[in-house]
Amino acid sequence: MTATVIDGKEFAARVRAQVGMHVARLKTDHGITPGLAVVLVGEDPASEVYVRSKGKMTVEVGMKSVEHRLDADTSQADLLKVIEDLNNDPEIHGILCQLPLPKHLNEDLIINSIDPAKDVDGFHISNVGLLGTGQKSMVPCTPLGCLMMLRDHHGSISGMNAVVIGRSNIVGKPMAQLLLNDSATVTIAHSRTKDLADVVRRADIVVAAVGRAEMVPGDWIKPGATVIDVGINRLDAPERGAGKTRLVGDVDYDSCAAVAGAITPVPGGVGPMTIACLLANTVTACCRANGLPEPEGLTA
Ligand code: NDP
Repeated sequence: MTATVIDGKEFAARVRAQVGMHVARLKTDHGITPGLAVVLVGEDPASEVYVRSKGKMTVEVGMKSVEHRLDADTSQADLLKVIEDLNNDPEIHGILCQLPLPKHLNEDLIINSIDPAKDVDGFHISNVGLLGTGQKSMVPCTPLGCLMMLRDHHGSISGMNAVVIGRSNIVGKPMAQLLLNDSATVTIAHSRTKDLADVVRRADIVVAAVGRAEMVPGDWIKPGATVIDVGINRLDAPERGAGKTRLVGDVDYDSCAAVAGAITPVPGGVGPMTIACLLANTVTACCRANGLPEPEGLTA
């Protein structure tokens, strides 16, 4: 079997187009422009890249983009003040504080200081609790993107066996919760899981969110299963020239694609969906803040 490739780049473009349409409607019908604020503390090069592309795409879909770039030694009190001001700013509907934060800052405290209604990353403890109890919440962007792709590919995932490899708060746990909310039968695997290969072999849906390059081989995959590869790992690629690198996921793409029914590539799979879902969450937050109906198909 050769797997269907789930094209996240194309899917993300569709989501962004939908977001753009809703933004245009909010402007013309209600005179509202959704606003997204991104707070970046320090100069982590990977975070710089993410923040730049988030800002660019925010503007492309017609939303207001605000960036707060703070020095690496910014005090907790100063950062909290920036967030408080954004919480109180009626033109800002979504706030994202780029992680990781410098070590001297308390990440949990900072995230939980964001107004839950503006918490477009879905990391605030209130949103985690709402998601866990099946209530309306802001949903973390990466798992939301994975869910959208699964729903699009399968229609319904009800009753399917899903294995999520990884139990982080930002990917693994919310992913498992979303799959459960859609009535899949869910197993969460992690570094202490015994016989991981056997656990994965039972899955109709495998979501790999580990951070280990090409860890899942094709002979772990049940024939016809759907494989969602969240991992982003950079490997040296001397064959491409001195100092060159290439991105790979957490699954061994070629051997998994030979067995799976469908698979997301890296790059071009889950990655592009993450920013698209951030924009989707911002437009959802804006509609909720203004008592307007939420756009359909853009949230869990
Ligand atoms: P974390 O490091 O926070 O979590 C990794 C998880 O993998 C942990 O739960 C860990 O288990 C588990 N794990 C580690 N080793 C093994 C193993 N040998 N067998 C089984 N499980 C194992 O990572 P994140 O969740 O933040 O990210 C995961 C990957 O997804 C990374 O590659 C990251 O770059 C990528 N990512 C991609 C995004 C995108 O937009 N595409 C967005 C966010 C992340 P334990 O808890 O027991 O330690």
